[in-house]
Amino acid sequence: MTSVPPADARGLLLVHAHPDDESINNGSTMARYAAEGVRVTLVTCTLGEGGEVIPPELAHLAQDRDNTLGAHRIGELTSAMRELGVADHRFLGGAGRYRDSGMMGVRDNDDPSCFWQADVDEAAGHLVAVIREVRPQVLVTYDENGGYGHPDHIQTHRVALRGYELAADPAFRPELGEPWRIAKVYYNRVPRSVVEAGLRRTAAEAPFKGVAPVDQIPGVVDDEIITTALDNAAHAGAKAAAMRAHATQIVVDGHHFALSNDLGQPLLATEYYELVRGALGPGGPESDLFAGVAR
Ligand SMILES: [Zn+2]
Repeated sequence: MTSVPPADARGLLLVHAHPDDESINNGSTMARYAAEGVRVTLVTCTLGEGGEVIPPELAHLAQDRDNTLGAHRIGELTSAMRELGVADHRFLGGAGRYRDSGMMGVRDNDDPSCFWQADVDEAAGHLVAVIREVRPQVLVTYDENGGYGHPDHIQTHRVALRGYELAADPAFRPELGEPWRIAKVYYNRVPRSVVEAGLRRTAAEAPFKGVAPVDQIPGVVDDEIITTALDNAAHAGAKAAAMRAHATQIVVDGHHFALSNDLGQPLLATEYYELVRGALGPGGPESDLFAGVAR
């Protein structure tokens, strides 16, 4: 992984909090660009050790029992990446460097080894090394609230944006490689009208105990905030397969899925983004994250 890619090769970097976030948010996007030959790199910041476990036969993995969920989720993530055709996936600072912080307000938030307690510039340094190595034109991460307020997602946002800044700064740790300016940064988004219509379909088909409230779905914004919609219907199957690979965390049923709360949500093949750094591609709303990026 030390060779320098050719400067005209497209590169997409996604920074996520836990294994499974990438497949839920960006599964069809990752599969699409991997299939197009784009260098897709996933950086996951924690192993998701604190997650709840859905299948009863795997309940023993949980943090309050065997505490082996992190290692198990590395395997789930590896399987998911195989489904998406993505070869380059890494953990920030190496697997296990930062521990899952749990939901906001729980005791795990205070664990000095958790991601929420990490020094942002130190954590961003690990990301700078990746950015300067793979030289992506596009970075995808969460908004300032982490999409829905989870501490690891908020910290992922901070570290991703700080890494974006520092990677381009020639004065920052030159031993990590030549400075690299990422052309475009996007937040994961879902337009409110789309999620509301999807939730009505989920409610009508009722594959789960209930339906998730819209305010529990990450990244929901008013439709006009969306700058970019990727119609990745051809990769819907790969996305569903990748989500299924995260079997401790997700149950997929047709065009719906549920997390450990057993509340259904629509499984969307079209994925949505808000451009927050860089220039929008020519011709209005984008259908390609690389729109307007020099090749
Ligand atoms: Zn997460």
